[in-house]
Amino acid sequence: MNETGQETNVIQQNPTDTSLDRLAAVRALVEGAATAAKRSSSSIELIAVSKTFAADEIRPLLEVGHRGFGENRVQEAQGKWPDLRHDYPDLELHLIGPLQSNKAKEAVALFDVIHTIDRPKIAKAIAEEITAQSRKPTLFVQVNTGEEPQKAGVAPRNTASFVAMCRNELGLEIAGLMCIPPVEDEPAIHFAFLSKLARDVGLTGLSMGMSGDYETAIAFGATHIRVGSAIFGSR
Ligand SMILES: *Cc1c(COP(=O)(O)O)cnc(C)c1O
Repeated sequence: MNETGQETNVIQQNPTDTSLDRLAAVRALVEGAATAAKRSSSSIELIAVSKTFAADEIRPLLEVGHRGFGENRVQEAQGKWPDLRHDYPDLELHLIGPLQSNKAKEAVALFDVIHTIDRPKIAKAIAEEITAQSRKPTLFVQVNTGEEPQKAGVAPRNTASFVAMCRNELGLEIAGLMCIPPVEDEPAIHFAFLSKLARDVGLTGLSMGMSGDYETAIAFGATHIRVGSAIFGSR
């Protein structure tokens, strides 16, 4: 608990800890949260969000066998991941940041999972690239659960029709929903809401939970947690 009485699960960062120490600590907390929720930790993918960190800082995690990584900018990812993928062909790269339709080609070429499909123009551009490149990234639809004007994502009330459009008009397979709760809100409310929206449209994937709230997200069914600073340190 912190002084406001809220549960807090931010790992106390010891300056001598390495990213490998912190990765191990996060994995242990994921395991604990999964057990508490009567889930198998194998149903939860830990995405190490490496944005702003250089390839040299990413390699140690690859060397110990971690394979799932997240980036929020296509251009930044293009600069560091082709070489890493050459050395570790089985790594899985996730795009977790907003996508412009003029970057769809690069995104489909580089990423294995795209978490931020949120408007028809993007969905169409991605569908065209999937056909053109014969590559098939796993896709999530981002939902703006807090209806924040500055934030990307489909409005909750439009989620079902947007997912139906992706499936029926564009032939896209959608794996699940993704959200980033408003910073000032209790994340649990948003995780529960996203989980219900996904259930209503028959989706099982839930990309939710970051460094400060991934244990809560696991309690609400997260299948993909996106953890950056708790592993790599503050940006
Ligand atoms: C940066 C980022 C994260 C990771 O944030 P941390 O608080 O560092 O864990 C997760 N999701 C998205 C969409 C991000 O942009």
